[in-house]
Amino acid sequence: MVRISSVRKCFGAVEVLKGISLDVPVGGVVCVVGPSGSGKSTLLRCVNRLETIDSGRIWVDGDLIGYAERDGRLHHLSPAALSRQKQDIGMVFQRFHLFPHRTALENVMEGPVVVRGVPKDKARTRAMELLERVGLADRAGHYPAQLSGGQQQRVAIARSLAMDPKLMLFDEPTSALDPELVQEVLAVMRDLAASGMTMMVVTHEMGFAREVGDDLIFIDGGVVVERGNPREVLAAPRHERFRAFLGQVL
Ligand code: ATP
Ligand code: MG
Repeated sequence: MVRISSVRKCFGAVEVLKGISLDVPVGGVVCVVGPSGSGKSTLLRCVNRLETIDSGRIWVDGDLIGYAERDGRLHHLSPAALSRQKQDIGMVFQRFHLFPHRTALENVMEGPVVVRGVPKDKARTRAMELLERVGLADRAGHYPAQLSGGQQQRVAIARSLAMDPKLMLFDEPTSALDPELVQEVLAVMRDLAASGMTMMVVTHEMGFAREVGDDLIFIDGGVVVERGNPREVLAAPRHERFRAFLGQVL
């Protein structure tokens, strides 16, 4: 579903991603871990084109992100084509970014109605189904300020799912939450993974990575230092830098 090949990204003179390659198969869950500033968010942001890359290639579901091939040459996608491409990729951030003056239900309906032109009745029915799926059917009429952080994050997940993404990106979705609210969000993500969603998850929740991840990628200094089956690499980390990192987060 996702192929990331030799991706490099600089901010000014600083090279933040130094040739990252990784694949996520259809239905696969890849967990990305690494120290602060190692390039995890930048990598996710490159996948859904919130950032442009300096070299390398990223494909999602066979589409080259940001470019179209014509006459054997690469051309930048038009803004309209780019926005269509991005609709297939859902992203959930550390902060929930819900519309404060819309109810949970209206937040979930917004994308399909405004971007896709789905009729309101249909969008409302589907949004209710999604709120049910994340365990918030009884909070549909609440505004974000009336919801806990964990509930807001679950609304944010439902809102992404309303666009029927092929791929979901999660950037530390639980790290802004009080500890007692983390599990309810992880449970929703676990269900999503079990339903066959392809996911890239930046997280420090090693329990989640161990249980749900098909692959664990440790990034440090813009390169992949260690990768493998989460249960195996967590039980027996090969690289000293990964061992030191685990010593800090576990
Ligand atoms: P954290 O765990 O703290 O979220 P991260 O692994 O997600 O860290 P990134 O946010 O990807 O790290 O940042 C990687 C590096 O790139 C950092 O040194 C950061 O300061 C730098 N960086 C990120 N975005 C920009 C930007 N828009 N302009 C300049 N530098 C940036
Ligand atoms: Mg980050």
